[in-house]
Amino acid sequence: MTTTSVIELKRSALANNLDFIRNHIHNKTKISSVVKGNAYGHGIKEFVSLAEGEGINHFSVFSADEAEKVFSCKKPASVIMIMGWLENEQVEWAIQNDIEFYIFDLNFVHEVIKASKKVNKPAKVHIEVETGMNRTGFKNKSINKLLSLTDENSECFDIRGLCTHYAGAESIANHVRIQKQIRNFNSIYRNLVSKGLQPEICHTACSAAAMNYPGTCMDMVRIGIMQYGLWPSPETFIQYAHKQVNKIDPLTRVLKWKSKIMTIKEVKQGEFISYGTNYLAQEDKKIAIIPVGYSSGYSRILSNQGRVLINETFADVIGLVNMNMMIVDVTFITNVKRGDEVILIGKQGDLEITVNSFSAMSDTMNYELLVRLPQNIERRIVN
Ligand SMILES: *Cc1c(COP(=O)(O)O)cnc(C)c1O
Repeated sequence: MTTTSVIELKRSALANNLDFIRNHIHNKTKISSVVKGNAYGHGIKEFVSLAEGEGINHFSVFSADEAEKVFSCKKPASVIMIMGWLENEQVEWAIQNDIEFYIFDLNFVHEVIKASKKVNKPAKVHIEVETGMNRTGFKNKSINKLLSLTDENSECFDIRGLCTHYAGAESIANHVRIQKQIRNFNSIYRNLVSKGLQPEICHTACSAAAMNYPGTCMDMVRIGIMQYGLWPSPETFIQYAHKQVNKIDPLTRVLKWKSKIMTIKEVKQGEFISYGTNYLAQEDKKIAIIPVGYSSGYSRILSNQGRVLINETFADVIGLVNMNMMIVDVTFITNVKRGDEVILIGKQGDLEITVNSFSAMSDTMNYELLVRLPQNIERRIVN
C-alpha cells in the first residue's frame, strides 16, 4: 500500500449484481454500464476491466474526458456512449473513434454535421428527447427541424438510439410525473417512426426506472448505482422487498475502502484530542491515528461522528478530522497495533460500515459520497 488507503473492488460482488439485474430485465434488453463520475468512485480503469470480464460491452459516460479514459482501457469491441458534454472541438475525435454520443439541441447538431463532413464519416448519435425533466433533450416542437436536418445530411448520421431520462424514478412521490414522461416518450417515438425515422434502439431506464417501471427497459437499460451493489434509494429496495418472501438484500457491495493504523497512543483524562477543544477525554483513553483525512475524501463533517472497524469492533472518530489524519478511540479494543487494518467503508467479520450509514452520517447521498472518493487512491481488484 503506497497510498494511505486502498479501495478494493470485489469481482464476485459485481458478478452477483449483474446476475440480479439480468434476471430482472428481459433477456433481449442490453445493459449499458454507467461509469461516469470515475465509475461512481470505483475507478474507471479497474471497473471497466472488471465489467468486461463479466460480459459487459457497453459503457455510458457523461463527458469526453471520461470517454477518453474508457477508450484507453476498454476492449476494442466495447462501445462508449457519451450522455452529455462534448466540446465542439472533440466531435471529430468522437466520430473518428466510433464513440457514440447524445444529440440534444439544434446548435449542437450543426456542429456534428460540420465535423462529420470534415472527417467524411457519419456520427453515431442518440437522439435525446425532452419528456418532462426539463434538462437536456429535444422538445417536441424542434423535432421536425431536427428531422429535416438529418434528412438533408443523411450521410452525416448513423442514428443509433432514441432516449430520455426520468426525473426521479426512485421515489413514489414522482409517480405521476414519471408516468407522464413514459407516455410522452411513447408518443414521440410513434411520431418519429411515422415520419420514417427508425432508431436502432430505445433506452430510457436508469436503475430505479428499471426496477420500478419495467416497461421503461425497452432495448437497453443504463445501469449505474445498482451494478455497484447499492439501491438508488431505500424506497426502491422496500418496493422490491415488499414483493419477495425473503427480504434479504440481493445486491452485494463491490467497493471496500480501507486503511491501516499509523500509531497508537495513550491520552490522560482531561486532555483535548486533535485541533482545538472539540473533544475532551472524559477518562484515560487509548487512541489510534489513521492516515486518512478530508484530503482523502473522509469528510470533516464526520468529526466526532464517524465510525470505523478495527479488529472486528466499531471505533468512534474523535475530535476534528484533519487534512491527512484522523483519530479514533480504541480504548476498549484489545491488541491493537500499528499496521492493523482499518475499514472505512465495508465489512470486517460480521460487522459492516455501509455506504448508506456513511452517507447518512456525512449528510450526503450514496451517489455523492462515492463519486467524491479521490481519484488518486489506489484501486485493487479482488475476487
Ligand atoms: C447517471 C445516469 C444513469 C444511471 O443512473 P443510476 O441511478 O445510477 O442507475 C442513467 N442515465 C443517465 C442519463 C444518467 O445520467
